[in-house]
Amino acid sequence: KKVYLNGKILDHKDAKISVFDRGFIFGDGIYEVMTQVNGDFFYADAHLERLSDCLQKVNIDFDVNSLLNDIKRLRKVSDLEFKDCLVYIQVTRGIAPRKHAYPKEVTPTVMMYIMPFELPEINQKHIKAVTTLDYRWGRCDIKMTSLLGNVMVNEYAMKHGAYEAILIREGIITEASHCNVFFTKNNIVYTHPSNNFILDGITRQIVIQLCHDLGIEIRQEAVKEQDIFLMDEVFLTGTTTQIVSVQQINEYSFYKGNNTGPITKKLQEAFLALKKQK
Ligand code: PLP
Repeated sequence: KKVYLNGKILDHKDAKISVFDRGFIFGDGIYEVMTQVNGDFFYADAHLERLSDCLQKVNIDFDVNSLLNDIKRLRKVSDLEFKDCLVYIQVTRGIAPRKHAYPKEVTPTVMMYIMPFELPEINQKHIKAVTTLDYRWGRCDIKMTSLLGNVMVNEYAMKHGAYEAILIREGIITEASHCNVFFTKNNIVYTHPSNNFILDGITRQIVIQLCHDLGIEIRQEAVKEQDIFLMDEVFLTGTTTQIVSVQQINEYSFYKGNNTGPITKKLQEAFLALKKQK
């Protein structure tokens, strides 16, 4: 398997990173995940823009503009030009003696890989989620490589036989360990506003746009934990999840006898149409 590391394409066994890389020592880095669908990167511009924004937020000085060409080179070498794929990109601050403050002269470490990844046309699963406390830090808008908080709450979900952990901060639902959360009630769609308590998912942005296009009312307002039971539909969004129906949260089941609500289904179909256009 080939990987990209600092301008070179190498066999993954030959790709070496210093133990003093701040990505390793501090989790001081930003990452991005996107897919290739029908031979084209899906919303690559949006993903690269988010990467660039996050790098700026933490003062990592790196220009993302050359990355698309490099990933195309990697794609070619890996013989993946026509396969559905997942692309992983990470930029860490670089190698420096271990001191917390940003080092002055440092070159970012850039690593990317691409691998075959089959997405279903529509995610037909109807999953179970559990709620848990959102004890992550206060800058969840930064897509950083230090994902221990997300890892811990996802592990909690796995232990409870659930696909996802839906996170609660001060009584309101923020997001999930690797997805954004949407609810519907009386034909209105609700999701947490994009602020420092959630990652503004690219799939989230697409779904909001689809709601506008389809004339579905969308409100970027958080739902309270205590109101979960009043909701009609729940779904999660994410690059690899796409749009998935949530059938159950904790012991409470939605859609008795039916596993996907009508608005969720409409959005899934519109999302599929978008992928076919690309
Ligand atoms: N929220 C969190 C915490 C995530 O890690 C992710 C994706 O990894 C998302 C939301 C969904 O973002 P996107 O749709 O850009 O994949």
